Order: sequence, then C-alpha cells, then structure tokens
Amino acid sequence: MTGWGVFRRRQTPPLLPKSQDYKPYLRMDFLRRCAYCRVKEYPEDNQFHFGVDHFRPKSRNDFAHLDRVYSNLYYSCNRCNQVKGNHWPSPALELRGLLFADPCGDDIYRDHLRLGRAGDLQPLSNCGAYTREILRLNAAYLVRWRGKMMALFEDVVRAQFMAEEVGKSPLPERDALLQARLAHLREICSRLKEYYL
Ligand SMILES: [Zn+2]
Repeated sequence: MTGWGVFRRRQTPPLLPKSQDYKPYLRMDFLRRCAYCRVKEYPEDNQFHFGVDHFRPKSRNDFAHLDRVYSNLYYSCNRCNQVKGNHWPSPALELRGLLFADPCGDDIYRDHLRLGRAGDLQPLSNCGAYTREILRLNAAYLVRWRGKMMALFEDVVRAQFMAEEVGKSPLPERDALLQARLAHLREICSRLKEYYL
C-alpha cells in the first residue's frame, strides 16, 4: 500500500476576520479528513469534531503573525488539534530532523511512517518519530481503524484476482462463480462505504 498522498490547496479565500472563518475552505482542501491522523468526518457528526489547526502554533510569539495566514491553517480533528497544542520543536531538535512532518509538503505515510499490516505505525525518519510521538498516532483506536483499512485493502486485491479467475473457469460453472464473486464484492463495497465515505 502506498502513502496517502499530500494535501493540495486549491481554495484562495480572502482575508477573513478570524482563523475559524477559514474552516469551510479548509474542509474542501483537506477533503473532510484530518490533516494528521487522516480520519474522515463521521457522517453522523458531520464537521463538528473538526476544527482549524495552526501548523505553526499561534500561541508562540514567533508565529503569532501567522494566525490568519491560510497556508498555516490545517483541517484537523479535535483530538489531533488538542494533543498538538502549542508543540513546536526547538532549533536544536529541528537540526536533528525532529520536527513535524508537513501534510501539505510531505507524503507522511510513505516517507516518514510505515503502516504495518496490523495498522500500527513505525517511523522511517526522525521526523516520523517526532510526529508519531507528539500526535500519539499509535493510539489504540487509530491502530484498530488503520488495521481494518489494511484488511479491506487486501480483500479488494484478492477480490480482483478472484474476479479475473472467473473468466478462466469452465462455462457450466461460470454463472454460479460469478454470483458468488458478486456477493463478495457487494460485501466489500459496504465496508468501503463505512471507512471511506
Ligand atoms: Zn486527527
């Protein structure tokens, strides 16, 4: 499984009175996912467990001027926003590569963190280690969620292989096989909806 990609900003909002006012724009640019842990808005909760995170914390004097700078604002679930807080590495840590991976610049889940089959994350760099640690990305519920996604991904690959095999089976058996494969695909689709939509 390759990484989850880099978020690309397409919105160009005007200067707005408060950083929270940028939420609707961020919601579109971040595809309704948390920039950090990548969970998607729960359909039943819509956007209420999500908010605007300042990548460079506005509470730090050196970044206060970035309060309403769109490129410093990230769509984030409330949990990540809270645990990230005003964390920012010291210059000494930065020199050692211990800094936050930037979801708008790095393919974090490919270049800095390796996703294990069980859904756990292992660091591939100091940056990945720092990001995982501060954001607590190996929290049990996130590991479970990613583990289910990995299993689902493997099922999709297997289903594709099995579907291709149907064409090679003898004609009298093909119809029954096709029905079985279709039932399997329907089951996978319903799980896909649960995790991705
Ligand atoms: Zn999150």
